[in-house]
Amino acid sequence: MTVISVWLDVPLRGAFAYLHGRPLESGQRVLVSFGNRQLCGVVDNTVIPDDIAPERLKPILQVFDALPPLPDSLLQQVRFAARYYLHPQGQTLFTALPTALREPRDVRLPDRACYQLTAQGLAAPPTARSTAKLALWQALHEPQERETLRRVHVQASAYLNAGLASGDIAAVPWQAPALQIDGELTLNEEQQQALDAVAAKLACFAPFLLHGITGSGKTEVYLQLIARVLAAGRQVLVVIPEINLTPQLIDRFARRFPATRIVCLHSNLADGERLEGWCDGWFGRAGIVIGTRLAVFTPLPQLGLVIVDEEHDGSFKQQDGLRYHARDLAVWRAHTANVPVLLGSATPSLETVANADAGRYRRLTLHQRAHGSATLPQVGLVDIRRQKLVEGLAAPVIDALAKALERREMSLVFINRRGYSPVLACTACGWTSACKHCSARMVLHLSARQLRCHHCGAHERIPLQCPACGNPDVQPLGEGTQRLEAALQRMLPEARILRIDRDSTSSKAAWDAIYQRVHAGEVDVLVGTQMLAKGHDFGALSLVVVLGSDGGLYSADFRAGERLFAQLMQVAGRAGRAEVPGRVLLQTQWPEHPLYQALQQHDFDGYAATMLQERREAGFPPAGFQVLLRADAPVYADAEAFLNTLLAQLGELPQGLNVFGPAPALMVRLAGRERAQLTFEADSRQALHGWLRAQLPLLEQLARKAVRGLRWSLDVDPLEM
Ligand code: ADP
Ligand code: ZN
Ligand code: ZN
Repeated sequence: MTVISVWLDVPLRGAFAYLHGRPLESGQRVLVSFGNRQLCGVVDNTVIPDDIAPERLKPILQVFDALPPLPDSLLQQVRFAARYYLHPQGQTLFTALPTALREPRDVRLPDRACYQLTAQGLAAPPTARSTAKLALWQALHEPQERETLRRVHVQASAYLNAGLASGDIAAVPWQAPALQIDGELTLNEEQQQALDAVAAKLACFAPFLLHGITGSGKTEVYLQLIARVLAAGRQVLVVIPEINLTPQLIDRFARRFPATRIVCLHSNLADGERLEGWCDGWFGRAGIVIGTRLAVFTPLPQLGLVIVDEEHDGSFKQQDGLRYHARDLAVWRAHTANVPVLLGSATPSLETVANADAGRYRRLTLHQRAHGSATLPQVGLVDIRRQKLVEGLAAPVIDALAKALERREMSLVFINRRGYSPVLACTACGWTSACKHCSARMVLHLSARQLRCHHCGAHERIPLQCPACGNPDVQPLGEGTQRLEAALQRMLPEARILRIDRDSTSSKAAWDAIYQRVHAGEVDVLVGTQMLAKGHDFGALSLVVVLGSDGGLYSADFRAGERLFAQLMQVAGRAGRAEVPGRVLLQTQWPEHPLYQALQQHDFDGYAATMLQERREAGFPPAGFQVLLRADAPVYADAEAFLNTLLAQLGELPQGLNVFGPAPALMVRLAGRERAQLTFEADSRQALHGWLRAQLPLLEQLARKAVRGLRWSLDVDPLEM
């Protein structure tokens, strides 16, 4: 009997030992009993089993062998992710697997055979009158998959089945079809430079930032790079945000590479489909795997290039379980596979900008739109300190909307609500409620009549007047956007207003309906929140109005400014897309704020540098490193008490490490639970992670003794506070 180490999907750090009659390979899926359940496990021979007497071990119940063992490269990625994100390795492994492989049963894949004409079939061409049959017969001179044949003609299946029955066609082993490239555009000079730069590095790890506004031709550069990688017989991984994974994008890839197997992976796939796509990547059959963050775990034995589009997008970070960042894991994969990685964005994250500034990433820039109107929109700042507002709207804004309506042009009203946390500000001198004890800003809690810091937990009374200048008019920033939608309808009674919010856009069908109405000219004013800032194409917009954005200028969340700036750049990019020059009007109390000044100049680089300087001064990422320890319980006091007990046990932190809190999370109450957190910070990522890793046993021991219902989690490189 052999003792075998097995990973299970349970919240415990170690692997488990089982007995089997013979050694098994690492990566082999097996069935074992655990407690009173039967679970799927994965063998890992790199783990030395605990020294337990064999007679106390349970046997492996079954070996799932319809598939080969999971590849070593995946186990290696899982080991890295578990270590980096301080997450149990078993759970990390099961997060990486498609659902079908997590379950305690064997799986069978549909056959992926190829088909080809036999000598008998070659000798019997169909009559020239049947063009469908002729096209299929022609195609079958080469080995073809059933699915590719369907693209030749819809009647492919019937033709294939008839041919198989008559002996004209026979199944042959799978082989990659010859690469076909359709409709390549001639690149402009900057695109060509970008292409050449990456193409020169196809044989080694080289990270690139491709910085270019929406429409500057980034996707075209990706496609032409992909062509080169496919031509070399290698595979490409393309990771994109959920919202950008549209049929239009997949179409564009499929039209460019009609013979290549393109696998599309996202969380809305049926288990079977996802498994098939995953295995096509794993077995080298898929030339391109394009998907949302989970696609970053797809095994690709011939990986030749990694692309992350919209690399700044927050949806790359998983917010529960294994809190991984798909962009960061994508860079790790490129590094491990020794291939280039291309991070594309119109508004790159400060993490990536800092890497480019430091020379770790090479910066490639596309300055202009690839075709069509090249004029950037004009950004106007409406100073609402000197305006009388009618239901939250300034006269020039209402006027501009009415004029656009007269001209039958569609307008977009963008209401910023994300990260809304009422920070106090003085309308006269610009004072804001900064925390005296740390670099964060304090948030107004009216019910408790306090200002509270969500970073370090400090609190104080609400000032009656501005502490800096004595002005009694101290107000929460960014308030009052809630009523704006109704106000718009009252002021523009004839306008056909379409509101886009989370509820109206949760399904693909809802989005299609919205697109249809917009493109059919049935909408005068689109009103919505962050959903509108993403890469949707709403056609020609002559006017974009931005409301409530001041709340993001001085937020308790230090990333709010970065997000706001990126969003406003993206929203402004919606204006004047076709031949109509666009206009952006932004209502603000702070027209002189550097963020708005940079927006007016379309100066991303300048403002990114300013924000990075601020981060450096505060020691916030990317200048420093953070790990959040969150605890939640039905009542706040329990969550806080747990963190306080832990703090007491941790004692003095090593030199260079700091801890802040316990403090309430920005959203204290969520789903009937209340959340507190500790923020660990350090200049050295290695020191921070290493020390925390050493504290995990203590943490787990305390958690076992904590009140019932207490939950805790670690968030490495957190994006949400
Ligand atoms: P991005 O990915 O930066 O938003 P795209 O690659 O989608 O940009 O390009 C935007 C539009 O410009 C698309 O319609 C694309 O077909 C077109 N385009 C891109 N590159 C070129 C080029 N070199 N010549 C002509 N049109 C181009
Ligand atoms: Zn003041
Ligand atoms: Zn503080």
